[in-house]
Amino acid sequence: LEPAHQFMIRIRAPGGVFTPQQWLGLDAIATTYANHSLRVTTRQTFQIHGVIKRDLKATMAAINAAAMDTISACGDVNRNVLASSNPQQSALHAQVHDWAQRLSAHFKPATRAYYEIWLDEDKVAESGVEHEPIYGDAYLPRKFKIAVAVPPLNDVDVFANDLGLIAIVDATGNLSGFNVAIGGSMGASHGIAAHYPRVANVIGFVSPEQVFAIAEAAITVQRDLGDREDRKHARFKYTIDDHGSDKIVAMMQARAGFTLQAARPYHFDHNGDRFGWVEGENGLWHLTLSLPSGRIADFEDGRPLLTGLREIAKIHTGQFRMTCNQNVIIAGVPEAQRAQIDALVAQYQLDRENNAPTALARSAVACVALPTCALAMAEAERYLPTLLAVMEPLLVKHGLRDTPIVLRISGCPNGCSRPYLAEIALVGKAPGRYSLMLGGDHRGTRLNTLYRDNITEAQIIEALDPLLARYAAERQPDEHFGDFLHRAEVVALPPYPTHVRVV
Ligand code: SF4
Repeated sequence: LEPAHQFMIRIRAPGGVFTPQQWLGLDAIATTYANHSLRVTTRQTFQIHGVIKRDLKATMAAINAAAMDTISACGDVNRNVLASSNPQQSALHAQVHDWAQRLSAHFKPATRAYYEIWLDEDKVAESGVEHEPIYGDAYLPRKFKIAVAVPPLNDVDVFANDLGLIAIVDATGNLSGFNVAIGGSMGASHGIAAHYPRVANVIGFVSPEQVFAIAEAAITVQRDLGDREDRKHARFKYTIDDHGSDKIVAMMQARAGFTLQAARPYHFDHNGDRFGWVEGENGLWHLTLSLPSGRIADFEDGRPLLTGLREIAKIHTGQFRMTCNQNVIIAGVPEAQRAQIDALVAQYQLDRENNAPTALARSAVACVALPTCALAMAEAERYLPTLLAVMEPLLVKHGLRDTPIVLRISGCPNGCSRPYLAEIALVGKAPGRYSLMLGGDHRGTRLNTLYRDNITEAQIIEALDPLLARYAAERQPDEHFGDFLHRAEVVALPPYPTHVRVV
């Protein structure tokens, strides 16, 4: 006998796009090998939870048979590459999605070990040593994250990534290149000032032909200079801050073989998702549905989300696009099929209008935390419905039911739900206790600030009630909650860089 180990498996899905056939494959895997649920992650892909050890190999084979893999979804390599899910600019989105695919493929480790271990491919190492052209013998000091954003939507939270690419279009709407941002990361530690969240800073502009060179330069500089002794200090942000941005940028330019152009103007409106139907440039329609913390299951309260999305996959001819805010877009629907999709959405209660009646609830993000994540200090996903139920009367009382406010919960300071960019964030400290962070800017360009530490639900509500009252009474037209808190001097800036800067 051995302990009944169970595992989480994460799919590699650059840009977060799945075909209906892949969806049905994932559904079959979830119901055959896992805990009968799928979970959309904040990196635009799926986690499959509860796979027991003896089923691991069969599960990996089933993932492969459904034309997917899990390569680089974990580990000290470039992780799943994010791309804007915005379905309204379909031609540009297609280009950006293509970049996510190409970057993911370019930075995929060369080793065949995955295929040897999980898919019974012949062993290469018996006949020779494998060569990793980018990662070398020791791979990276820590994970490395890349995102590609399409302004004016920052739905990927591009500044939370080690390397961010911001698509810049010319006067005719064609892609002319990317602004490059480096050094974003959400991970922190409670009470340790040396471990801090950081937004990426914009260092210049590259043409499309220069993207691989600058991305490879960033990754190899981090490979060579990153801290290999202290994993808590090993992300690219610390390498940049320890060596100085000027030195890192100079090294990147030298390795890339060109000088970065000056950053081009860009503007982000917000970092959330738009819900409901929108029509794309090519006349196809896209429906964004809000999911509860990205969890797709047949819930005990009667909402059959897993079954409903399975039924949609059976008739859908477009794609499913995952968003970085844990939601799903049923994308590429012909006008003639919209009514059929709407009927299934109603039948299976897939629209959260009824279950999440506030704008804050529909866009809330929570990491998985307990019981799945061994690092969790407090509940996140399982606690979110309770918190939303407590906050709803508060929002209604202050006339803020339909006001978008970004709320995120993480079960520990590692920040998988990107809490430090939220207008309101709870970061777990102990069971039932959280750090309350306030003052992100709704566009994902400003970090929030610790407002109250180690507090309970009652204290959270007690703290938020007067602030929401003031916001409702004193806000300026179109002023978001986080911006109001700064204008009203409710929160001060923390003792580390908080804003995206052009350096
Ligand atoms: Fe786990 Fe912490 Fe990440 Fe939540 S933020 S999933 S608790 S590591």
